[in-house]
Amino acid sequence: MKRIIDLLFPKQCINCNKEGTFLCEDCLSLIDVNHFQYCLCEKLEKTNKCDNCRNRSLDIIFSATSFKNKIVQKTIHKFKHSYIKELSIPLAYLIIKHLQTINCKITNEFVLTPVPLSNKETRARGFNHSKEIAKILSEATKMPLIDCVTKQKRGFKIIANIKNKKILLVDDVYTTGLIMEEISKKLKESGASTVWGITVAREIVDL
Ligand SMILES: [Zn+2]
Ligand SMILES: [Zn+2]
Repeated sequence: MKRIIDLLFPKQCINCNKEGTFLCEDCLSLIDVNHFQYCLCEKLEKTNKCDNCRNRSLDIIFSATSFKNKIVQKTIHKFKHSYIKELSIPLAYLIIKHLQTINCKITNEFVLTPVPLSNKETRARGFNHSKEIAKILSEATKMPLIDCVTKQKRGFKIIANIKNKKILLVDDVYTTGLIMEEISKKLKESGASTVWGITVAREIVDL
């Protein structure tokens, strides 16, 4: 069945239309990964949080690329709104490349957790985009993937035993960080020892 679909609708690069994959190697190589990290706010920081962010629950944020890159924007948009699930592979690759570039060794004592969607949102999209990225990261790094959080009408709810666990929260784009902070707070209240965030892209809002 899959082969027939491929024949009828051959895969095409979403950027240059070349046939074969949804994002060809040439276009993927045009995406620079960040050689640096931001604080949770928009300051450039080495590893620690700035004074203003010290009391926030999220401990560190890693963002692989800049959302200013047009190919990144296009890829994330197609991934989420044209339902091209396979784009989770190049997006997860960018995250891994970023971690290697900044020499960050996240060990598998961490548990990967996607930022959840509500059931309604998941049904509308067919899948949770963050979870698809987390699945590829889990395969590549051997870090376990556990759905620790759900999104309900009244907000986020912790649904796994995370006492003393180190959590790596996965999402596509980090902008203000409000959602990650809300989830991190819940995770820490439920006993998580460490919460790091990781996203494909960082969007800097020019104030
Ligand atoms: Zn291409
Ligand atoms: Zn800060």
